[in-house]
Amino acid sequence: MRLDKFLTETTDLSRSDAKKVVHRGDVTVDGEVVKNTARAVKDGMRVEWNGEHLELMGLRYLMLHKPANVECTTKPGLYERAHDLIELPNVERLSIVGRLDVDTTGLVLMTDDGQWNHRVTSPKKACAKRYRVTLARPLEGDELARAVEDFEHGLMLDGEEKPTRPARLEMETATVGLLWITEGRYHQVKRMFAAIGNHVEALHREAIGDVELDPELEPGECRFLRPEEIASF
Ligand code: URA
Repeated sequence: MRLDKFLTETTDLSRSDAKKVVHRGDVTVDGEVVKNTARAVKDGMRVEWNGEHLELMGLRYLMLHKPANVECTTKPGLYERAHDLIELPNVERLSIVGRLDVDTTGLVLMTDDGQWNHRVTSPKKACAKRYRVTLARPLEGDELARAVEDFEHGLMLDGEEKPTRPARLEMETATVGLLWITEGRYHQVKRMFAAIGNHVEALHREAIGDVELDPELEPGECRFLRPEEIASF
């Protein structure tokens, strides 16, 4: 790989800044200053930038405990972005694997492995996501029984042509419950409860497939996934 490309892969430098630092003589390969940006970097060579050893990263897989008022977007906007909470080089290369609304909290997966991302989010895989839902109005008795049945059979959401896939609802109290869905339509959980005349006051994603939000992670914290978590999709 060319030296300038190697620098963009291992740091936050853009290609043009990478060229500049090389031309300035800030980069060494195996201890020698190299000013040729096209110099080939091969396996086993030691590249340093201002004395810092740079190493190519493998693919990365993370879980983030997303707090409220953080946006799952790449573009800067009104809110802090999920990417801003992650202190890693080349963080913009990480894609969010199933976004959450700005006010939704909980488990967000991020990766730079496009195939893995596809395996988790592809509708064909029907991967279950578990949400803890807090409702504005109590849902109990006959109304709860109807809601469980409607969710199980699938609901027509406003402006859509296909009913939702079967979903499971278990209420823990009259206003707090767990919902399992296997799709990721726009505002899906909020719209499902709106369709049965309720309103979601708080929403928290607890799990995606077999990957559970790590209880050790405070809101705003992230960690790398364990091999068995990565392999579970
Ligand atoms: N469903 C929603 O309505 N919002 C989310 O953030 C996730 C699922």
